[in-house]
Amino acid sequence: MALEEYKRKRRFEETPEPPAKVATKAGNRFVVQKHDATRLHYDFRLEMEGVLKSWAVPKGPSLDPADKRLAMQVEDHPVSYFDFEGTIPENNYGAGTVIVWDVGTWQPLSPVPVNGKYVPGTEAEAAAMLAKGDLKFRLNGKRLKGDFALIKMKGRRPGSKGNEWLLIKKHDDHAVEGYDIEEFDQSVMSGRNLEEVAGDAGSREWKSRPSSGRGKLKAAWLADAVAKLDQKKAAAGGQKKKRQQLTAESAKKTPQRTQRKATDKS
Ligand code: MN
Repeated sequence: MALEEYKRKRRFEETPEPPAKVATKAGNRFVVQKHDATRLHYDFRLEMEGVLKSWAVPKGPSLDPADKRLAMQVEDHPVSYFDFEGTIPENNYGAGTVIVWDVGTWQPLSPVPVNGKYVPGTEAEAAAMLAKGDLKFRLNGKRLKGDFALIKMKGRRPGSKGNEWLLIKKHDDHAVEGYDIEEFDQSVMSGRNLEEVAGDAGSREWKSRPSSGRGKLKAAWLADAVAKLDQKKAAAGGQKKKRQQLTAESAKKTPQRTQRKATDKS
């Protein structure tokens, strides 16, 4: 039941990703995968209730408490996704290369401090905190350690999808001011970086992709976001229209910018 959306989005005869299967054994692992999809992001997953509760974090997690990282909750993933590293082929949901950026265990913390300190909480407390949108937990990973909170944002902003959370590091001995995730680009599992894993799966495909095309990726990311929204609505009629609108919008933007430049010069 919990993995229906995961199943619906994928074609398992094409993707190397694991099948949807709810685990019967309780676990307390976490994984962060670095995913070079239409837009590079990190997937933060907590093993919970027989699945991996998942959030896509565009900038990735940080050990700096000053960073409040946007984390979009996405569909639950099967526990066997835990050590998935490889390339999801073109034209499939989430197409792009995935590496395992961090692994470890996690534990929920008490919803409120006990004698001024957060102490390990129970599974039931974790479920309640998740439902409430204020999940406090401790990580013991290879890279991420210490106390964190995932806090659901109130969806009042226009265009909010209601799946936006913030991932925040708490002040403790593991906090690192000015933490830069880009200093750590290798898989903790294989020691390889995204390029190396991608090269493994089909280097020709990889090389043909723009290496510094950030501007181009922006529009692609928007298209991806719209596509996801469309999938949710599952209204086949609305789909094409939205995508056409978006294409028209991005097409409009480029000439406008060119025009303005031309005017400046003259
Ligand atoms: Mn992803």
